[in-house]
Amino acid sequence: MTTDDAESPIERITRREQEITRALAERDLASDADERSDGHHHPAEAATDADLRERHLRDTLRFRDQLERLRRARAAIAAGTYGICIDCGAPIPEGRLVALPDAERCVSCQSLAARRR
Ligand SMILES: [Zn+2]
Repeated sequence: MTTDDAESPIERITRREQEITRALAERDLASDADERSDGHHHPAEAATDADLRERHLRDTLRFRDQLERLRRARAAIAAGTYGICIDCGAPIPEGRLVALPDAERCVSCQSLAARRR
């Protein structure tokens, strides 16, 4: 595996956090604009607005969840447990951590966990 110009885990996590924080800030601006326009809509548009608001909320929760996972990954780095599967204790492959810096499980434990849900 080549490690040329590889980011350290903390750099990857920081970059993700910045991306998500920026996306959240942009959403908050968009939602402020939505709220200011409230009360001027034709009733027929209300359902669409509710749908949009619901989608917006779901996205916001998803971003918050990602930030929480990144925060846990950061704590794991500090604790020296980063990159170790929380279920089986096996090392998580580097390639997986590059793609998913907040991965807490190896691929097989993650698919088991997803099935449990
Ligand atoms: Zn595992």
